Amino acid sequence: MKYLSLYCGKTMPALGLGTWQATEDVLEKALNLALNIGYRHLDTALLYDNEKIIGKVLNEWLSSDKINRNDLFVTTKLPPIAMYKEKVFNYFQKSLTNLNLSYVDLYLLHSPLGIKNVPQNKEDVVMDPNVNHLEIWKEMEKIYEKGLSKSIGVSNFNKEQIINILKNCKIQPSCLQLELHLYQQQKELVEFCKRNNIVVVAYCPLGSPGLKTYYEENNKKIEIPNLFENEAVKEMALKYKKSPAQILLRHAIDKGIGAIPKSSNENRLQENLDIFDFSLEEKDVIVLNGLDMGEKGSLTEWEPWGWL
Ligand code: NDP
Repeated sequence: MKYLSLYCGKTMPALGLGTWQATEDVLEKALNLALNIGYRHLDTALLYDNEKIIGKVLNEWLSSDKINRNDLFVTTKLPPIAMYKEKVFNYFQKSLTNLNLSYVDLYLLHSPLGIKNVPQNKEDVVMDPNVNHLEIWKEMEKIYEKGLSKSIGVSNFNKEQIINILKNCKIQPSCLQLELHLYQQQKELVEFCKRNNIVVVAYCPLGSPGLKTYYEENNKKIEIPNLFENEAVKEMALKYKKSPAQILLRHAIDKGIGAIPKSSNENRLQENLDIFDFSLEEKDVIVLNGLDMGEKGSLTEWEPWGWL
């Protein structure tokens, strides 16, 4: 495993387990498998509606001394509905209680946007683009200072929004979690974060094949590119005797970026972890870097997907 050093002094396993779209029995089984084979970094969010099951599994492992709390790295996130200073701590506590932990390792603002109302369904959502990031960040700092989250950070924030926090904070963000994969490599933001000691963590590092189901369930027809079918990736998979997924993950990790692929499948969980016994040649890295499509490569839409 490779580790990334966070600004606040903690280290984060570069490869973690994503858990969006994983709930109940499937997640319980997957998490036990993942912990058994060595995953120690878990990514969740209040919105994924799976913190309780994660808390249950972690409690079983921790209370039977199968794992040491210091070796675990647990991330969760403040939902857009709580992007108001008076709500931050209450929502944080909900997550902490759900997770059955006395602290988390990283607490993130899930999105720079807020949701103004308490919507019953997606059509009712009233987005709030004018939430006060600085007020909210002060509440995040209090959580950090109480030792309830060992580091704090942001997700889906752009450069200007991060600069605003950097210029006005007591404790700077340790991490930016964002959509990052072969077709959207976020080169400028990654450079900016490096210069400012902010660790970047890639979500959708495999191109989120599960997003298709999500869009279909929401009656949307959107073509999701299949990164595993990219010719260069397929050729490299043959050359290195690895899978396309492993090529994609190694490409991100080699740049000092964290990655949190989600899987509920035993073989794929193992496959995604087995990326530390090879490295990509410089000429192949150049080819993969050249496949970036910038903003056009984005898979996600700016709408409250999965945010209710
Ligand atoms: P990923 O790119 O991780 O893709 C996950 C999908 O790929 C699943 O459908 C999984 O299916 C499949 N898969 C996993 N491994 C392999 C493999 N080796 N070969 C083929 N298919 C594979 O997308 P996610 O959208 O899940 O993103 C990762 C994580 O990032 C999320 O789970 C979540 O924790 C976080 N996230 C954060 C967001 C934010 O706003 N901060 C937004 C979106 C995600 P299967 O389970 O069947 O293996």
